[in-house]
Amino acid sequence: MKKFSLLGFFIVFLLAFPNVGEASSGDAKIFLDGEQLNLASGVKVANVNNNIMIPIRVVSENLGFKVKWDKASQSVTVKNSDTTVKMFIGSKSAEIDGQQASMNIAPMLSKHTTLVPLRFVSSEMGMNVRWDNEMKAVFLSSGENEPPSRSGQDGGATPSKPGDKAPGKSTGSAVSPKPEILATVDGISFSENQLMISTSSRVTPKVFQLKGPDRIVVDLPNTAFSNIFGTEHMMNAQNSGELVVTEHPEVSQIRYSLFSDSPSTVRVVIQLTAPVNYTVSTDNSGLIFIDLGAADSVPVPQIDSGNKVVVIDAGHGGSAPGKVSVTGKYEKDFNLSLAQKVEALLQKEEDIDVVMTRTDDSTISLSERSELANRLNSNIFVSIHGNGHGTSSPNGTETLYTRDASLELANTIHKHLIKATGLKDRRVKKQNLHVTRETNMPAVLLEIGFLSNKGDEAQMFDEEFQNRVAEAIVNGIKEYLKV
Ligand SMILES: [Zn+2]
Repeated sequence: MKKFSLLGFFIVFLLAFPNVGEASSGDAKIFLDGEQLNLASGVKVANVNNNIMIPIRVVSENLGFKVKWDKASQSVTVKNSDTTVKMFIGSKSAEIDGQQASMNIAPMLSKHTTLVPLRFVSSEMGMNVRWDNEMKAVFLSSGENEPPSRSGQDGGATPSKPGDKAPGKSTGSAVSPKPEILATVDGISFSENQLMISTSSRVTPKVFQLKGPDRIVVDLPNTAFSNIFGTEHMMNAQNSGELVVTEHPEVSQIRYSLFSDSPSTVRVVIQLTAPVNYTVSTDNSGLIFIDLGAADSVPVPQIDSGNKVVVIDAGHGGSAPGKVSVTGKYEKDFNLSLAQKVEALLQKEEDIDVVMTRTDDSTISLSERSELANRLNSNIFVSIHGNGHGTSSPNGTETLYTRDASLELANTIHKHLIKATGLKDRRVKKQNLHVTRETNMPAVLLEIGFLSNKGDEAQMFDEEFQNRVAEAIVNGIKEYLKV
């Protein structure tokens, strides 16, 4: 009992004097879209009671936002083209686009710099944030380039309930992670013409083809097998095993092993009976796809009706659920439901042929989606998504595009969309996303609303709302195509 109250006192002490926790920190790493940030020498990240605090120069130099420090009002303003976040030293209240918001922890002065909470700033600026406790690393990604959300590992700067865990852990002390292992390989499967590897976070594979015998080698740098891998896959004492493949004429065997342990590398070898063409794609949820003979593998419907061709893409699907809503529903299900309503309406249009990237809960890579549209030579590509955020406040509808040729389509659909959703207008934004970048025709990605926001979410799973929004998307498409 006495011990407990002492512990309680210690926590209160830490909360009251947040600078105390900082002494033991500085070892947290930050990854942006899969790449570790190179911090200038002397620049340190601090872990204060489970909150990763970063110097404001990291916000400007590494994350690329505009930062203004005002000494008189002791305030820090962080800005991009859409959002302005204003914070005050010692205050947990912040202003987001002039609206009040609260933080877990107040910005603080430390030595010669101002520290701001990383999770709050980056998520308010529209990034996805994931904390990997074992690696002591923060994974940031922009927009739909989302990191895998793994429940229970999201402790980066979430409020830690006093007494939940040993306070020593929250200040980043004795635990020494294995820094060389950046991601785990959780599963390997092969079906149709596709090898799919799932990893805990984004991995850039090295893939090459060898002769005598013919084989494709996939090296996954800085990875190791996860604990669950061995329970679902055959694995011998040497940390290797094989996958039985019977359905592909050119594949005789797929082997996997821990190929090297410095640096830790998992290798997957596709043993072939003859050389084959292949394409490699990665998905931002940590999936890697090796498509064999991909040039012929994507079934492309023949369209020679002279009609306008519209590709509707229901985002995510299968083992990539997308965002998880406040009530635990999956983004992939919302996307498919709305996309199918759009499809049904477009099928009634005599001058339009509609093609879906998926019509069920299957896992489809981003490149398969863009490739389908490109090979169809469709007139437009419309991807349907729900947005999400680390906090519950952001809400509203936005339309994203990448190439300038897509701006008119974005503006036209957004005009109809915003009327139908009735949600906050987050406007049309330029963002670097695979499906809107790699497609050859005008392409947009619609973020209908925020699944992380109670108000938005309740509407998004409402049939009436979906019907109204589907109709608006179709009206936008028709206006753009002039049919
Ligand atoms: Zn999405």
